[in-house]
Amino acid sequence: MNVYDSRIIAQILSENGYKETADKKNADVIIVNTCSVREHAEQRAIGRIGELQDLRKENPGILIGVVGCMAQNLGNSIKGADFVVGPSGYRKLPQIIVQSLESRVQSSKKKLTTHNSQSCIEQTDELYSDIFPESKDGITAFVSVMRGCDNFCSYCIVPYVRGQARSRPPEDILKEIELLSSKGIKKITLLGQSVNEYSYNGVNFPHLLRLIDGTGVPWINFTTSHPKNMSQELIDAIRDGEKICEWLHLPMQSGANEILKKMGRGYTKEKYLDWIHKTRKSIPEVSITTDILVGFPGESEKNFNETLEVIKEVRFDSAYMFKYSERPHTKAYNMKPKVPEEMRIERLEELINIQNKITREKNSELIGTTQEVLVLGKSKRGNSLYGRTRQNKVVLFNGKASPGDFIKVKIKELRGWTPYGELLSKKEPLITRINTNLPETEHLEKLQGENVA
Ligand code: SF4
Repeated sequence: MNVYDSRIIAQILSENGYKETADKKNADVIIVNTCSVREHAEQRAIGRIGELQDLRKENPGILIGVVGCMAQNLGNSIKGADFVVGPSGYRKLPQIIVQSLESRVQSSKKKLTTHNSQSCIEQTDELYSDIFPESKDGITAFVSVMRGCDNFCSYCIVPYVRGQARSRPPEDILKEIELLSSKGIKKITLLGQSVNEYSYNGVNFPHLLRLIDGTGVPWINFTTSHPKNMSQELIDAIRDGEKICEWLHLPMQSGANEILKKMGRGYTKEKYLDWIHKTRKSIPEVSITTDILVGFPGESEKNFNETLEVIKEVRFDSAYMFKYSERPHTKAYNMKPKVPEEMRIERLEELINIQNKITREKNSELIGTTQEVLVLGKSKRGNSLYGRTRQNKVVLFNGKASPGDFIKVKIKELRGWTPYGELLSKKEPLITRINTNLPETEHLEKLQGENVA
């Protein structure tokens, strides 16, 4: 969501005459987009803002702004920020940047070493529905379908910093997707804190998926689904959708009913397992991933073992695993007894070891199969290319292809735990766009000689 919000910010600022630079030494304004879902994320952002202060020595005119959930959460108490803007205030950024500059000029006239930081942290029902951000890589794009969350899971700060759940009109979502499609975007990921809770004038999420399935974008993903909002209607929409990819991210958080109740998640282990079973029955090729939180207040050894049992039973394709982090304002903040930090770390390590083994085993099931892959670029290490399957699995491969191509890869082995294979053939279209900002002829010139498998 923050990556998408950064694109919204870039769009708003570019419409006001600003240009993006990847070189912070070249920047007149640096905006740090922050997360506050865990304390660690806030500490890292604070560290980053501290490091950026060195740039002021070389460029005393530079403005450093902090936006996002931590800005909303900590407001003007953030040190080293010239301005602080919460997730609902991005439309005001051009105005706030100007005010920050004016404040600096006033301070320098008065020979003050500091100036007042500007802020916009009021909570609104802002949806940015009319702002259609550009894709950064020209191949994939996020599209937010709703913002905020009303679920108030007892450990989560999101409803406090991102406000009430509100859904975008389907016509705006479809317009944004068609625009991205016309620019050659190959994969859209629909975003929402609890995306399957989407609801607008009688259009629910499965209905929205069916509408989006009729657009020109080849692949459609969505995240994050809440187990309490699962429905057979949603499973059927994924099964029936030609463009809806077979990947479901369904955060379980805990496998112990006692803990799920304290977390306020609104489902039981049994209900969760039932949805996994129904999903796999309808869509046998589906990959299911999850989030797990260990060390929640009151989590006993028995509760933790229940989580491990469910992990072994479900055999998720992969999981995001975290240890509980106290977040002020939330209900769990004052819950007792706290699990000691060392125990949280131990449990997390044990969980990661078990899940990593399962992930490796699940990936090894791909050896010998042929996968449809969207090429995304060169791998960070080695000379291979990488892409993702419809199940959202990363695949490394050898062969000639360009980012944005759909190809077929025969999986030969695992490297680490990543499937590795050989390119078999290209799926259509043979020539695909790699940089949608280039005119058509330049695309073709750039692609000549490197695009034939
Ligand atoms: S559903 Fe729960 S965990 Fe997810 S954003 Fe909302 S409150 Fe947080």
